[in-house]
Amino acid sequence: MSQLWYPYTQMLNAPKMPCVVNAQGPYLEFADGRRVLDATSSWWCLIHGYKHPELDQALQDQASRFAHVMLGGLTHEPAQALAKALVDITPEPLNHVFFSDSGSVGVEVALKMAVQYWHNRGQTNKQRILAFYKSYHGDTSGCMAVCDPAEGMHHLFNHLLPQQIFAPAPSVGLDASWQQVQEDIQPVRVLLQQHAHETAAVIIEPLLQAAGGFNMYSPLYLQALRELCDEFEVLLILDEVATGFGRTGTCFAMDQAQICPDILVLGKGLTGGYLGHAATLAQTHVYDAFLSQDNERAFMHGPTFMGNPLATAVALRSLQVFQQDHYLQRIQNLQQQLQQELCAPLAHEQVVDIRAFGATGVIEVKDAQALAGVQAYALQEGVWLRSFGRYLYTMPAYILTPEQMRHIIQVMRAWFTEER
Ligand SMILES: *Cc1c(COP(=O)(O)O)cnc(C)c1O
Repeated sequence: MSQLWYPYTQMLNAPKMPCVVNAQGPYLEFADGRRVLDATSSWWCLIHGYKHPELDQALQDQASRFAHVMLGGLTHEPAQALAKALVDITPEPLNHVFFSDSGSVGVEVALKMAVQYWHNRGQTNKQRILAFYKSYHGDTSGCMAVCDPAEGMHHLFNHLLPQQIFAPAPSVGLDASWQQVQEDIQPVRVLLQQHAHETAAVIIEPLLQAAGGFNMYSPLYLQALRELCDEFEVLLILDEVATGFGRTGTCFAMDQAQICPDILVLGKGLTGGYLGHAATLAQTHVYDAFLSQDNERAFMHGPTFMGNPLATAVALRSLQVFQQDHYLQRIQNLQQQLQQELCAPLAHEQVVDIRAFGATGVIEVKDAQALAGVQAYALQEGVWLRSFGRYLYTMPAYILTPEQMRHIIQVMRAWFTEER
């Protein structure tokens, strides 16, 4: 019997889980003495690896002053400084930051903000959201309702979830032409023609639909989507919870398309993975729609732990380390190595595709069964890998040496090529 209920796990036959007792850099240490290389950076968050001296120090310094204080009616320096830093590194019109405690809540905040934006402007019908197949935006109800409706188990929670509008996932690759993009985005235009009057916002993960199947698509698609949102007067929400802070090779994925969303959501890597926290950034015109003598127009949301001083202090230090240690160059190197070594031809009947983008590499198989047992195999080989569905992926910390990256790549490929 387990008192502890684990995520996404059938508890009836849950395997015994390795117990982490220490972690350093990209390595996890287990209670049984094993030391393994983490290929997943703990759900893509620990971008600096574990036990980074500067991040540890930032936490300790803040803990010695105060660990938490409410942001309702009070303020503090770490939250103010992080808000300013995030405004500084994002495009000019994104000037306002609303904190929350997880990526899902950050997305909920974005959705509510979009709906109330239109409400405050007298357009009370614009309450729905246009989302995409293959998307993942979190596990809370509002987020689930904008996840891929087939994968997101919408049928199970039929009466709990609002019915949103879904467009096909982008299917144009990273190097598509403008012409191909225009054709691919046509269904979105048609949906907006039908639904713009009742739609508050479009939400999408820019360039990389991550947990919904590692779908990588053209920056031109984002440009075309930005244009459509302007044409049809709906807000554009970019969910960079997974892609933010370097994962696709630029600080934000949107940088590659040179577009700016009306609302941006950041999470995961924000704190270097040290603490759960998220930031929802809004353009000035969005923020301004909430300014009024009428209190009812204020944004009525406030997670208990928003702006937590430990989380915001460590996030601030994480940003400094990201810049001072030339992470974009490191990510470029990881991308190059993944493209050369992971994406080399691999003759196996189950392998459908191998792709890499930024510090993300994935082997897609035909049948999820082909990955059964890969986690145990990788552990034997000294690597912590977690496949899901038909995807075997790595999203490592950016501090990996070429040798460490090679070790992960070799284990991922060896699963298909070695006799067992
Ligand atoms: C992980 C993720 C979320 C949810 O974040 P949580 O911190 O798990 O709530 C939302 N959107 C995207 C794109 C994500 O990858």
